[in-house]
Amino acid sequence: MDYSRRIRQITKNLRKAYYETGTQEDRVISTEPSQLTAKQGLGNFPAFYLEGTHCEKSDCGNCANCFYSQYHSKELNAEQIKAQIDYVFDHFDELVLKEQYGKNDFPNEKKKYKNSKPIFMTLSPTGSFYSDKEFPKEVRLYFLKKLLKKSEELKRDVVLHIEAHAKDVVKQKDYIQDSEESELLRKLNAKCILGFESVDEWSRNTLYNKDLPLDTFEEAISTLKNAGIEPGAFVFCGLMTHTNLEAKEDMLQSIQYLKKLGVFPVLMFANCQSWTIPDLLIQTKNAKLLEPYTVLDTVYDAMNILTANGTEDPGYYLVPEPVDGPPYPESNIFFDRKDLTGLTSIDSYFAHEILADLRATRDVTAFIKKWERFRNNSVHNYKGYTIRMGKEEEEKENLQTRLNNVLSVVASQYKNYIVTRKAKDALEAEAEAKETYKSNL
Ligand code: SF4
Repeated sequence: MDYSRRIRQITKNLRKAYYETGTQEDRVISTEPSQLTAKQGLGNFPAFYLEGTHCEKSDCGNCANCFYSQYHSKELNAEQIKAQIDYVFDHFDELVLKEQYGKNDFPNEKKKYKNSKPIFMTLSPTGSFYSDKEFPKEVRLYFLKKLLKKSEELKRDVVLHIEAHAKDVVKQKDYIQDSEESELLRKLNAKCILGFESVDEWSRNTLYNKDLPLDTFEEAISTLKNAGIEPGAFVFCGLMTHTNLEAKEDMLQSIQYLKKLGVFPVLMFANCQSWTIPDLLIQTKNAKLLEPYTVLDTVYDAMNILTANGTEDPGYYLVPEPVDGPPYPESNIFFDRKDLTGLTSIDSYFAHEILADLRATRDVTAFIKKWERFRNNSVHNYKGYTIRMGKEEEEKENLQTRLNNVLSVVASQYKNYIVTRKAKDALEAEAEAKETYKSNL
């Protein structure tokens, strides 16, 4: 059975069904990009995602867990993209400078402006920085020149994070290795994060449905390195059908691989986005999100890998905040977990705080100690968690059977799911309209 093709088709149909609800059909693209504050974003710095045309992979039905391309803009409008960039610069103090939070990692020897704190930020379209359909080259240059000018005016280095598809990097290999754009990116200490998700073929190209051969990813990495742009990669934990322990092992295996390749990891923990197969499974009680303690255990093991058990500097890494959006997740790992017995909401809250502290301070040693203390304190019932995990392992079927079961659930529940999801969206839209009305009074 061609699982990838089937998952791609279902994902495509779900996205189409959403667009047909018309919720975003006539939406005028805002002059403000989607924004994440420092406490919500990839790292402890602000992130801006340009609204415009869809991520191309989204339109192809790839990436079963993702539905970031919710806004329906069929045609690229370069002026609208430019307007969003101008908005960021018009509000630079408030949106960027005041949103530098906690500790950031930038070696002094790399600094041009030795006595000032570098400015960290992300600005990218939803899918790929290097997609001319999402972010035309001339607008990219417009943005990068403006940002470099800002850095020079403020006499502060900038560390810019961009996100891209590996295939786009490979397609534009010659250009990336020698262009004015790459020169600007180098001056802005750019880090380019590629969608990768997992080194495991089944996880990456079937469960996540990334359509990404490993050799393409590796070629993209060497292209970026040759261009002097530091490569990073998103790694995903919590794919459908994986048990908690399998999800953890999958992420750790990917981190080992990236470490050898000299690529920094971005540790993503799966929340639930509406209009996706994982959401259908969760809504119909055929799947659960990861357990909060799985996230902490995974980060703990990941930090031990990155630091070679405390003997090396971890290098650069990011752990995006697993609670926020946009779009805001329908349900998230840490809060309001009515589906878990044996875990109190206060324990889940404390576990999240330990992670939030790591994000803010980047103090790996303190994080390791805090999580060990937490686990060893019987108040938090870590033992209960290990018993649940043992049971989950004992009861599991083989991976293929689990995926067949998922596909049967999707086939039987698809129509109901669309009806329920539409009704939920309509209720949310009504509540939002009421709020806007009230705040405009
Ligand atoms: S994960 Fe990234 S590449 Fe995939 S559909 Fe979402 S935005 Fe596009």
